[in-house]
Amino acid sequence: MTEIEIRDRQEQLNAILSSMAEGLIAIDNERRIILMNQAAGILLRTAPPEAAGQEIKQILAIYRDNQPLVYQDLPIEKAIAERDIISIGLLDNLSVKAKNGRLFPIAMTIAPLLAKGEISGAIILFRDITKDREIDQAKTEFVSLASHQLKTPLSAINWYSEMVLEEEVGPLNEKQKEYLKNLYDANRRMVELVNSLLNVSRIDLGAFAVEPSPTDFSAVADEVLTELKPQIDLKKLRLDKEYDKQVPSINADPKLLRIIFQNLLSNAVKYTAPNGVIGLALKKEGDNILIRVTDTGYGIPAADQGKIFTKLFRADNVRDKEAEGTGLGLYIVKAVVEAGGGRIWFDSLEGRGTSFFITLPLAGMKKKAGTRGLT
Ligand code: ADP
Repeated sequence: MTEIEIRDRQEQLNAILSSMAEGLIAIDNERRIILMNQAAGILLRTAPPEAAGQEIKQILAIYRDNQPLVYQDLPIEKAIAERDIISIGLLDNLSVKAKNGRLFPIAMTIAPLLAKGEISGAIILFRDITKDREIDQAKTEFVSLASHQLKTPLSAINWYSEMVLEEEVGPLNEKQKEYLKNLYDANRRMVELVNSLLNVSRIDLGAFAVEPSPTDFSAVADEVLTELKPQIDLKKLRLDKEYDKQVPSINADPKLLRIIFQNLLSNAVKYTAPNGVIGLALKKEGDNILIRVTDTGYGIPAADQGKIFTKLFRADNVRDKEAEGTGLGLYIVKAVVEAGGGRIWFDSLEGRGTSFFITLPLAGMKKKAGTRGLT
């Protein structure tokens, strides 16, 4: 190749890179920038020549939920270590802070840079997804509004079917009673679904409040267990309770705590075959209170365990056995636990049973302002 041809190629390559709409940064093995295109420069408010040779962490400050990520946790390191392409999207909630202080949400792809089979750095492609966020937000607001509107007619159906069912307006024959009871139950399920959808939209909009007050965990748990007693008895389940005496009252939002117990315990009951055992333990462990809900039920198939906290997910092994369910409960529980400064995880073996664990700090949940609570 002649010198002119090389220069032409170089110019062509530069034109391609500077015409790209996405930001592109290439780094070497020392994590220093070897190339940055114009779009990246505009997004980060840093001139590409100024960025060259600098460490990537000085230029690309990545945040999750408004907290800066520790460098070791960056997806860049993961892509290099695993020699794999990593994609970050809307749901990962990552943002970048530009030099002028503007924080904007990003989607990003990171690929290891390979030269002769050896890793010689990484290529980072990213774009501003503010618009995508806005569309997503508008969809969530729509779900919130629609669920809210559905509540009024559903309450009316509930109210009137209950009145007719109780024969307040005249006697019913057996068939009429049976059909009306089905109608009443289906409506109740719909109310639960609409409430869950409202909760999910409030979570996704970041709009739910946390209002802690001194709360006795065992009292809230017992209240929920009393409500579940008919189902527990119907299935002839044994209930093992193990409450640590040392568990003090903790500053926690009682409504949120109820949501946690309600979902985990009703799942344990729902997903356990008759004559099984369910258990609830409350323990003090270091600086935390540990809630453990166990069952000897259907379990969660290993292949589905990664998806269990995602919205609307229900595993195949329970869907044919138990028609009732929305796949929203655990998503809500996880959000609630995390908003309360806690952690949730589980252990499960298909066909043997499941244990869910939650820790919440004894120091209590932090108050969080919000437009509405969860129901
Ligand atoms: P739902 O119970 O309404 O379907 P959840 O979000 O509470 O929704 O749970 C999501 C899925 O996780 C369930 O559909 C089920 O597949 C699985 N799961 C949750 N808890 C258990 C459990 N205790 N045993 C077995 N599977 C469970």
